[in-house]
Amino acid sequence: MSAASAARRIAPDLDVVVCEGGGFAAYGMCGIPYFLGGTVEHAESLLAYPPEEFRDKRGIDLRLRTRVTRIDPDAHQVHLSDESGSGPLGYDALIVASSADPVRPPVPGLDHDRVFTIRSHDPVIVAAQKAGRSASASAARPASRPVPSTVGGSP
Ligand SMILES: Cc1cc2nc3c(=O)[nH]c(=O)nc-3n(C[C@H](O)[C@H](O)[C@H](O)COP(=O)(O)OP(=O)(O)OC[C@H]3O[C@@H](n4cnc5c(N)ncnc54)[C@H](O)[C@@H]3O)c2cc1C
Repeated sequence: MSAASAARRIAPDLDVVVCEGGGFAAYGMCGIPYFLGGTVEHAESLLAYPPEEFRDKRGIDLRLRTRVTRIDPDAHQVHLSDESGSGPLGYDALIVASSADPVRPPVPGLDHDRVFTIRSHDPVIVAAQKAGRSASASAARPASRPVPSTVGGSP
């Protein structure tokens, strides 16, 4: 989102499109442990900006839950997969900022449905719900809630 916002500032006439595979953009990753640990109560507190900030105020075509499945540099196209299907999108200039996927070591039990790899906001919501907690501000919290444990971390 920083690169897209910079492109918008430098060249106001550009069509700037951001394809984000997850359901969130511009959130504080470093706040995730504080949410899972209960210090931060609501997951939405981690969002630096709502999607409308980019779409309405910065004129950036932010497409959530839109995964890039293939880049075709010869045709200057990326291939997208979203809730409405899939198809190509042309580009003049492309920035790839897809980060990295976590390595999952061969630890027995890692495939259990209560073991999560947290690398973005979406699995945090699922993990919180599985721990008996709502990620929403409006829902009541249970009187006592399970405490998440963390094994490993980012470098
Ligand atoms: C729990 C946690 C705590 C952290 N705490 C700190 C901290 O305190 N201080 C610090 O400096 N750093 C911290 N980090 C690291 C920091 O968050 C990352 O270094 C930083 O987010 C990397 O930014 P990025 O833009 O490269 O990638 P990301 O922020 O990961 O953004 C990449 C985005 O690309 C999307 N994406 C990937 N593939 C595709 C695709 N094919 N199509 C569409 N979208 C795709 C992903 O959904 C993701 O939203 C933490 C990370 C985690 C996970």
